[in-house]
Amino acid sequence: MRTLIRHATLVDGRTGQDVLIEQGKIAAIGPGLPLPEGAELLDAGGCLLAPPFVDAHFHMDATLSHGLPRVNRSGTLLEGIALWGELKPLLTQEALVERALAYCDWAIAKGLLAIRSHVDICDDRLLAVEALLQVRERVRPWLDLQLVAFPQDGLLRSPGALSNLVRALDLGVDVVGGIPHFERTMAEGAESVRILCELAAERGLRVDMHCDETDDPLSRHIETLAFHTQRLGLQGRVTGSHLTSMHSMDNYYVSKLIPLIAEAGVQVVANPLINITLQGRHDSYPKRRGMTRVPELMAAGVNVAFGHDCVMDPWYSLGSADMLEVAQMGLHVAQMTSQHGMRACFDAVTVNPARVMGLPEPGLDVGRSADMVLLQARDPVEAIRLRATRLWVMRAGRVLARTPPATARLELPGRPEQVDWRHPTPGGADR
Ligand SMILES: [Zn+2]
Repeated sequence: MRTLIRHATLVDGRTGQDVLIEQGKIAAIGPGLPLPEGAELLDAGGCLLAPPFVDAHFHMDATLSHGLPRVNRSGTLLEGIALWGELKPLLTQEALVERALAYCDWAIAKGLLAIRSHVDICDDRLLAVEALLQVRERVRPWLDLQLVAFPQDGLLRSPGALSNLVRALDLGVDVVGGIPHFERTMAEGAESVRILCELAAERGLRVDMHCDETDDPLSRHIETLAFHTQRLGLQGRVTGSHLTSMHSMDNYYVSKLIPLIAEAGVQVVANPLINITLQGRHDSYPKRRGMTRVPELMAAGVNVAFGHDCVMDPWYSLGSADMLEVAQMGLHVAQMTSQHGMRACFDAVTVNPARVMGLPEPGLDVGRSADMVLLQARDPVEAIRLRATRLWVMRAGRVLARTPPATARLELPGRPEQVDWRHPTPGGADR
């Protein structure tokens, strides 16, 4: 089975490129490739052929449960956790599987082909764990689903959480999670980080913790996480998710902290849609934005990804598996409006989260699996601006989803018939 894609634009700016796919892998890239006999021909029409989107931070056990059993009135993280606690005893495995599969359909249609999802283990039945393990197998041909054992109610605060977490890992959950800022004291939070990092080191697993998801400038579990990462030789395998307290920290302290994070090889996931809506809820004015210091971390060489975190659940009533919406919010909240900054926001929903998850280095290169998405845009910045239509989504050379191009027909005298959403002169110089 061979496919030739004609007239693609690549993320690095090369235009007029053809891509030959053989047996699910990229066999050649270049202009004017000959069409092999019997090969299928796809015309990219000059549009952007990009690696698929990756979401390194999500909660698939809670997704699409918005309104069950009621909505979050205060809009805070803590009411969301309480609401999830009300819903948990009512969950059934069938409903969890059905909602997760429905979300995976949305994701694939949007070109989102790898997701790291936290799964709450603070339920002695481990209902959500079993449901998502089942979903992970069912979607494997189309989507890489990685699971994190997440003690939502606190590893030390919730009775039985540690043994449930170990059981979840024994069942095949991939990554060790945590939530130190939700433990009873700062000391217990630090102790939970130590226990969890040692558990991951013993088992050769990765770590991804909800860390300092507060507006408290003195919440400093990220420092402890970086310390144990280095002590246990876990460099490159540990992720600090959220780190919203860094938004409020003292600048002098942060000038010491960021180099420590970089030195420990800790990776970072910010969740712009959720951070901007859940944080700063106790502020009047001025109101803090609550997202961690993304450009400063990137400048220090830290791998930073943007996650979606929530879609239609107790914490967030919106969302559609659209990682370009996530990138667009991250860009605005972090004021990353230079050409370089906007491109970095595109990387934060493609290559950077793939590194967080430890997936094979993504990108369109000869020898790699033919996983790609054709966007109705000509460069990454235009893709973010338009939240571009995913014209088609491909995995291992097979088209999984198609969306018709966004068009509108004008009936105005003297104007072109079709609206062209693209910039007339793409790829402007960096400022
Ligand atoms: Zn989360």
